[in-house]
Amino acid sequence: MDKIKFATVWLAGCSGCHMSFLDLDEWLIELAEQIEVVYSPVGSDLKVYPDQVDVCLVEGGVANEDNWELIHQVRQRTKILISFGDCAVTANIPAMRNMLDGAEPVLRRAYLELGDKTPQLPHEPGIVPELLDQVLPVHQVVPVDIYMPGCPPPADRIRATLEPLLRGEWPTMAGRDMIKFG
Ligand code: SF4
Repeated sequence: MDKIKFATVWLAGCSGCHMSFLDLDEWLIELAEQIEVVYSPVGSDLKVYPDQVDVCLVEGGVANEDNWELIHQVRQRTKILISFGDCAVTANIPAMRNMLDGAEPVLRRAYLELGDKTPQLPHEPGIVPELLDQVLPVHQVVPVDIYMPGCPPPADRIRATLEPLLRGEWPTMAGRDMIKFG
């Protein structure tokens, strides 16, 4: 039987959701027998998101042009896209800057007002991606198939979401254990 092509993507998040994924501990060994990791910041070094991915966990909000481009590729090339954690589901912490008037005040504060040596705005076309004016949850940019909240989602919730998918079934995202935020 073909293994499930599995990916994880890291957009604007703290990587805490990926750390929680690693908290699956020994179940990761069982998981590894059933999946082929085709793209992930923790499981592969591929730079290009591949075609025909079966399942992808997406951590983080959509905050910059790179995130925007990648999430569209992910959506086009993935059967089941899971919004993985509160930053993906609601934009959460990265969206705290949304209360300001666009990205410019954030950049000015971080790089000019607080820059103690050589204050300057980051600018390197093709290397430093432009910030979007607002940080968006994933579903406001592309359709999402499954929402897995949590900051981060606990490992038990990740397993309870993935196990049915491995059997070809749909997980039941209901009840405190599965959909509690925070
Ligand atoms: S949901 Fe929480 S743990 Fe996950 S990326 Fe956002 S801040 Fe980090």
